[in-house]
Amino acid sequence: MTNPLYDTLFGAHAGKDTPFLHLPGGTTITHAAFLAQTAQMAHALTDLGLQAGDRVAAQIDKSPNALALYAACAQTGLIFLPLNTAYTEGELSYFVENSGARLLVASGKAAKALTPMAGRLGTRLETLDADGGTLAEAASTNPTTFQTAERSKDDLAAFLYTSGTTGRSKGAMLTQSNLLSNAQTLAKLWRFTQDDTLLHALPIFHTHGLFVATNVTLIAGGSMIFLPKFDLDAMIDHMPQATAMMGVPTFYTRLLDDPRFTAGLTRHMRLFVSGSAPLLAETHTRFEERTGHRILERYGMTETNMNTSNPYDGDRRPGTVGFPLPDVELKITDPATGGALPDGEIGQIEVRGPNVFKGYWQMPDKTAAELRADGFFITGDLGTRDADGYIRIVGRNKDLIISGGYNIYPKEIEILLDDQPGIRESAVIGVPHPDFGETVVGILVPESGAHPDPDNILAAIAPSLARFKHPRKLILADELPRNTMGKVQKNVLREAHAGLFA
Ligand code: ATP
Ligand code: MG
Repeated sequence: MTNPLYDTLFGAHAGKDTPFLHLPGGTTITHAAFLAQTAQMAHALTDLGLQAGDRVAAQIDKSPNALALYAACAQTGLIFLPLNTAYTEGELSYFVENSGARLLVASGKAAKALTPMAGRLGTRLETLDADGGTLAEAASTNPTTFQTAERSKDDLAAFLYTSGTTGRSKGAMLTQSNLLSNAQTLAKLWRFTQDDTLLHALPIFHTHGLFVATNVTLIAGGSMIFLPKFDLDAMIDHMPQATAMMGVPTFYTRLLDDPRFTAGLTRHMRLFVSGSAPLLAETHTRFEERTGHRILERYGMTETNMNTSNPYDGDRRPGTVGFPLPDVELKITDPATGGALPDGEIGQIEVRGPNVFKGYWQMPDKTAAELRADGFFITGDLGTRDADGYIRIVGRNKDLIISGGYNIYPKEIEILLDDQPGIRESAVIGVPHPDFGETVVGILVPESGAHPDPDNILAAIAPSLARFKHPRKLILADELPRNTMGKVQKNVLREAHAGLFA
């Protein structure tokens, strides 16, 4: 094999007229047609003088062209670096400069504004949109086959920047085998085959939509209903043609809020997967009541792809992320000593396996601090393992509240708050306090039309919590601040409420 990633995900489908992408307008792109498009794109990239190992940064809308750019990077040995479409020019220039990308691919409408930045950084700028762009034009006249570049499984395939939920995004260096091993494991565990049609509404600049959803479908030889973004009407229109869906928790709550989302609509579905942020147990239960399906929750991150999953057969437990994947070792450790903790105790989640990245690009100190010499990666998440082996995530290490010397896990309080009548969801944070160092504050989002009284809620949860865990203040809000992956940005909340007791 000359190029494990390309050969396994893409090359394996050479000459097949099987469907790969179903587009909203009714067009279907076959595997063979997609590979031809990929080869043309690969020529366009190498014609620019790019060489294996160069970085290609892409901030482009989701489209078959965007996916062909990913495939072409694999075929030419270029390192693919997809970027969140929400990033501003200032943010983008950090990623381009930090990664040393030789090419920036942007949408046509952004190109003019980005030209000075690309010039200043010495990066070539090309455009790519769903219906054209300079790169697509250059590709269109090229041959439809390309001599795949020789790569080994240890070569870098992608730089994926973390979501920046807890601080500045870090570039995770991922090898071909990081991506391939995880796709193989997940496709097997979740029983993906060529008969599957995945309803794909996730962005493809993130590990969830690109590596989990797309690579799993590719490795199984199935197809995707490829929607440009999450749109309720489109989801409901296309669901009857799908067999599986992957989404962030907000996809599920938004579907449940729509009366058109019924058991009948999901009759042909065999699997719903959730991840990227915690799925409320209540959402899991409501989903089962409405559709009869039990959402399968899994847990992963940019640096590792996926680490754990609830079982395909067997009990998918709400509020848990299931078991470590067959090729992933997971341990819960004491943050102070790094020693393994017994089941039931809360500690930091560490993982080791073929999925774990090679380190953060140009951040040797951060890499050394989080990636142990023995290969275990300290994820930054806190969790426990119960007696049955299920992993439960308690929150991020950075969100832990230390008040008067006591550790307080926000999740424990959030679960109680979420259970109160009239509360849709909550976020518990630590804010500076002159006596205790930090103290507990809860932000409550009421259900629509409800007017919960914070004093009553405090009185209702108080008996279930030790005194030092009682929120000192509960604040009502219309919604929680979230990034594009639906993750609650607690640092934004901490900043907003930092002055409460100062
Ligand atoms: P940054 O590292 O830049 O602060 P981030 O950690 O949000 O951002 P990602 O790699 O996109 O960036 O997200 C991984 C994180 O998402 C995990 O570390 C975990 O905190 C959270 N996560 C993913 N899946 C789940 C899940 N099923 N339940 C709870 N949390 C999850
Ligand atoms: Mg992270």
